[in-house]
Amino acid sequence: MQLFLVNYDTHYEIEQLSRMFFRELTVIKTDSLPQLPEDDYILIVNKSGSFDISLCLKGESHSTTLTVDPQGAKEEMQLCTEAYRLYEKATGAGLPWGVLTGVRPVRLMRNLYKKEGNIQNVINKFKNEYLVSDEKIKLCTDIFNLQKPVIEGGRPNDYSLYISIPFCPSRCSYCSFVSTSVKSAGHLMAGYVDNLCEEIRYTAKKAEEAGLKLKTIYMGGGTPTAITAAMLEQVMKTVQECFDLSQVEEYTVEAGRPDCTDLEKLMIIKKYGADRVSINPQTFSDNVLKAIGRNHTHRDFLRCVADARKAGFDSINMDLIAGLPEDTVEGFEKSLRGCIELGAENITVHTLTLKRASNLVIRNEEHHYDDVEKMIAKNSMLAKYGYKPYYMYRQKSTVKNLENVGFSQSGHESLYNMYIMEEIQTIISCGAGGVSKVVGPGGEIDRVYNYKYPNEYIKDFSAILRRKDEVFDLCRQYGFQKD
Ligand code: SF4
Repeated sequence: MQLFLVNYDTHYEIEQLSRMFFRELTVIKTDSLPQLPEDDYILIVNKSGSFDISLCLKGESHSTTLTVDPQGAKEEMQLCTEAYRLYEKATGAGLPWGVLTGVRPVRLMRNLYKKEGNIQNVINKFKNEYLVSDEKIKLCTDIFNLQKPVIEGGRPNDYSLYISIPFCPSRCSYCSFVSTSVKSAGHLMAGYVDNLCEEIRYTAKKAEEAGLKLKTIYMGGGTPTAITAAMLEQVMKTVQECFDLSQVEEYTVEAGRPDCTDLEKLMIIKKYGADRVSINPQTFSDNVLKAIGRNHTHRDFLRCVADARKAGFDSINMDLIAGLPEDTVEGFEKSLRGCIELGAENITVHTLTLKRASNLVIRNEEHHYDDVEKMIAKNSMLAKYGYKPYYMYRQKSTVKNLENVGFSQSGHESLYNMYIMEEIQTIISCGAGGVSKVVGPGGEIDRVYNYKYPNEYIKDFSAILRRKDEVFDLCRQYGFQKD
């Protein structure tokens, strides 16, 4: 599909919206009427104060004109709403999130609530202006209400620590994270861990001087359990020595892959103070696991969960993905029921995302994703078993433009997940691929990036410590201090 924009430069939102309906989209900007192709196209002509919108789809033409209301929403939003209605009519299918393209709908709801002071006005805006479905508005409102006390209870000098261990036993076909396989980068692990420990020590010292208060710790990656038990112990011992863990409210370690997580590593994680692990089946089907390049079976996953319980964990998250190649609606439902039967305290349901860096996209594999909405609809069964949605985010290139939602049993909601997704607390990151975000008292956000890959992180480690100084300079500028 080609999208022609005539005399219109502000095109981000309309491009994103058009892409949600028509995946393969080429955008062409011109200042005069173009030669139109014989096959599918969209033509949007800006006439200063009005827009002509035409869509040619499978030989049929559809068109409308928008007269911009100067008292109404932003011009670009008005254009998106009008285009959405035309696309929906022409394709016969709407989008559950309407014209909302942003990744944090709950944050949008909260910001509008701050302005409006009345949640019903915000709900009306979601429904009438953004064209969001009733079901998604309810999801958003439930999460907004559940998060309210957590968000309101935060203080400016609170922070969370993210520790990145960007190695994995193998690369899953849908993965777009910074993660290197142990096979190709195993030789870097020991040096990486030494530097990481130094960065953690430096961060602890600087955070103490800056008067910051550590609330949660999240060790992710990659898969932290991909490193050896001795290296994992080295990192966790460093964390224990550097911070007063008795004051930390939550400490999570991703132990996502059963093919590198055993009882010994889980005991180390528990011994050094973590109280929450994530063990991720993604699916309960061995066929699907094989299709996505995970080197473990469902039986390995069950063994891993049993080991985590044996090690003493009473807060386990399990990630599932809706829309994986070879999966079916029945298969997805079986996976969801399986997590419930295993007594997972958290279940996080992701929708498959087709990112450019993933092997699924690189290999241009042909799959049908038509059933993904039916899979996501199965989440409704979770309420019956006491799970409530507590955080949510959306990503670009997600199949059918759907969302990722964390569900939790009461009292097991992950604070870190809420902080990071809602961007309401400073997060200081250590390790390759880490991004520190300093959140100012007025909600302003400054980002400081570490190197992305382990080799550059090791090679230019002094730059990493200098970047940490930048993080704490920002904290000082915002006036964070001990209370
Ligand atoms: S386990 Fe996670 S980080 Fe590692 S390759 Fe798979 S999706 Fe990527």
